[in-house]
Amino acid sequence: MHRFPVQEMRVFGKKDRDSAWRSRFPDTVTCVRCLQKKDVEDMDRLLWCEACQRSARQRAAIWGWVFGGLLAVALAFWIWFQIQPSDIVIGGWIATVVGAFWIGGRIAREIAYGVMRYQNRKAEEAVPPKV
Ligand SMILES: [Zn+2]
Repeated sequence: MHRFPVQEMRVFGKKDRDSAWRSRFPDTVTCVRCLQKKDVEDMDRLLWCEACQRSARQRAAIWGWVFGGLLAVALAFWIWFQIQPSDIVIGGWIATVVGAFWIGGRIAREIAYGVMRYQNRKAEEAVPPKV
């Protein structure tokens, strides 16, 4: 998800009102993912801390690699056995497979991250208490 860069927010001269708004909230809030108290500055609007956003993005990236890889392999098989490209155009087909891997992986990563954000499972990253 795209977040506004900080400097863009500052263009409107809201800095003073921002800090007034901030001071009404406590300095630390509990992250809904890992249940650790973190600085309010690290939180996004879903109350995920930066570490949790990063781990969710990494997990989404793995999904992207897996899906992109499967898509590329399936496409390569289909091209190889159905189209049976000649040696002259094989480079074009390889580029097609690489492109499918790249684009498919990117899309899968965005969807996986979006799904995680949408589901927003509570305490997903929390360390269970020792018994
Ligand atoms: Zn967290």
